[in-house]
Amino acid sequence: MRHICVLGSTGSIGVNTLEVIRAHPDLFKVESLTAHSNIELLAKQCAEFKPRMVVLGSVDAANRLNEQLKVMGLTVTVEHGAKALVTASTLTSVDTVMAAIVGSAGLLPTIEAARLGKRILLANKEALVMAGDLFMSAVASGGAELLPIDSEHNAIYQCLPDANTSNGGSRGKYSSLGVKEILLTASGGPFRNHSLDQLKEVTPEQACAHPNWVMGRKISVDSATMMNKGLEVIEAHHLFGLPSEQIKVLIHPQSVVHSMVRYIDGSVIAQLGQPNMKTPIAYGLGWPLRIDAGVTELDFTTAHDLSFEPVDLSRFPCLALGYQALATGGLAPTILNAANEVAVDSFLNHRIRFTQIAELVERVLNQAQVSGAVGLDGILEADKVAREHAQIMVKGLSA
Ligand code: NAD
Ligand code: MG
Repeated sequence: MRHICVLGSTGSIGVNTLEVIRAHPDLFKVESLTAHSNIELLAKQCAEFKPRMVVLGSVDAANRLNEQLKVMGLTVTVEHGAKALVTASTLTSVDTVMAAIVGSAGLLPTIEAARLGKRILLANKEALVMAGDLFMSAVASGGAELLPIDSEHNAIYQCLPDANTSNGGSRGKYSSLGVKEILLTASGGPFRNHSLDQLKEVTPEQACAHPNWVMGRKISVDSATMMNKGLEVIEAHHLFGLPSEQIKVLIHPQSVVHSMVRYIDGSVIAQLGQPNMKTPIAYGLGWPLRIDAGVTELDFTTAHDLSFEPVDLSRFPCLALGYQALATGGLAPTILNAANEVAVDSFLNHRIRFTQIAELVERVLNQAQVSGAVGLDGILEADKVAREHAQIMVKGLSA
């Protein structure tokens, strides 16, 4: 039996994780859950999964949950704040952490769990983008098992020979095993066929209505700008130890081929499935065994079109910014991620236009000091400075 901490249990990935866990009570026991502010859902999750500890974002939220749990007759330790997130992910009783907090807030609890050698199921790509080398060395030094949950990386993991990202740090490993490149697929999002002029007018509601996937608001906007793919290129670089020239991106509107690996002998191996995150979640939870994910099968008895096309970088410059940050190295990915988090939040709050997300990230990235210490303190400082810089630019743009 595996003992699980779900960081971000009230989000899209968190809820899907608990659905897979619910179907396998003999395999999984929930030890801790965390949420930012959704007290109602967290209370329901406490009643069903009986964790020993839960964490909320604020003292006020924690007090309100405590009251609710008292009425429900449940005994659960309720804590709040960033330190408590680390406590939840590093409990001795926890052996597996689903990292499904959105954004940089997920970094510390995830990296600390990795240092302690827990199995990490990584959905929170921002943590790896902002602190890739540090994160991978925590995984290596702690002897943690790192399993990618992001559907593309999970697909690649399944298509690689001898996949084991715990030694993703060993650069060149896959080249010596005949891997030529990896092909990340992208749906192209809701605005795949929009012109630049049309992109200027799109609303947060339109950006969050993804054609194939149901996801949280931040990643939905990232998918619409294709910054999601930029972040995923950096994520793939760290997970699989491949240089950016060996990481390609293709538009695949049907989201059935989740990604592919091309070998030097001409073979291309792809992983296919429904666009449903329960498949990669179940893969990570059950690994190395396969378990039922509760997902409808792909039906090959009816006609399917699987099409692929290149990305138009003039309409989706965020992908190019991802490659640029990876090539620049140092603190550039940290800055890219921080500026993007501020820009997406500002767009969702109607303070900037959709097309200004890329403009803002580009300006912050190009004006920032990218060299500097890439230890945890240096990363957190660069993250903070880039956010402040981005906030000032938002004020200028929305004035
Ligand atoms: P979401 O917005 O639905 O959920 C986010 C979760 O994080 C919630 O439980 C929320 O309470 C918590 N949270 C938010 N801000 C927090 C903070 N400051 N401190 C502590 N907790 C906080 O997001 P999601 O779609 O579930 O995505 C979660 C992560 O998984 C993201 O990093 C995303 O990029 C990644 N991911 C998601 C999908 C998907 O299909 N949803 C696919 C691939 C990767
Ligand atoms: Mg993805």
